[in-house]
Amino acid sequence: MKDPKYQQLNLSLNGSLFGGIYKKSKNLNHSQRGAQSSRTLLDLFEITKPSKRKRVARGKGLKYDPELTHTCREKLESMKLFSLASGVNVFWNLRLKSTAGLAYHDSIRIDLNTRLQRFYPEEPNRTLLHELAHLIANHRASGSRIQPHGIEWQRACSELGIPGEKRCHDLPLATTEVKRKLAYRCRYCGVIVPRVKKLTRESACYPCCQTHNRGNYSRRFLLEKISITEAKTLAPQYNWA
Ligand SMILES: [Zn+2]
Ligand SMILES: [Zn+2]
Repeated sequence: MKDPKYQQLNLSLNGSLFGGIYKKSKNLNHSQRGAQSSRTLLDLFEITKPSKRKRVARGKGLKYDPELTHTCREKLESMKLFSLASGVNVFWNLRLKSTAGLAYHDSIRIDLNTRLQRFYPEEPNRTLLHELAHLIANHRASGSRIQPHGIEWQRACSELGIPGEKRCHDLPLATTEVKRKLAYRCRYCGVIVPRVKKLTRESACYPCCQTHNRGNYSRRFLLEKISITEAKTLAPQYNWA
């Protein structure tokens, strides 16, 4: 999938948010990086260096949801996935903005965006199952690399009662229209990435990393800064400053 439809992977309807970005962890060597990416999946195109678990655990902004955790446990037990069932925990994460949900394979944790509550009950449930399918697919793959939204995940979605689930949800999660002051372009596919904050020089195009590099970071797909004037011509759909 080379076509620029990837921009539709944004979560916000106004098209002003684009999360698909990798940040290279400077202090990791190649094999460590690979191990890290197979352990932790940060979903829905908000791909940045995972926060240290300790920091997340004691950080404010996480609210444990016993009911949703129970829902997951029941589903997993009915699928005979007992080790997942006993370990899974669901949190509302107040810090998530454009990301609907996250699945952490290593800690068997699901984080949901609190803004999903506005679309209760459909969206919290759907996102919960979407993320749960990631945990299941990854668990079954037992360490081998799989596509985040590949056949294993799709199968798990069907089993959870959400066949045909999309890899991304279109939700008007962004509350305010934020003006994008910075623009980046993938040196490989040419996709335009609007940003409010500066990216590190090591940020790469998420779709290209997925499509051409099995989901791993590569400098081939670096995002390069372009001028706002150029960005306005190339991608007028965004809310440029
Ligand atoms: Zn997903
Ligand atoms: Zn690209």
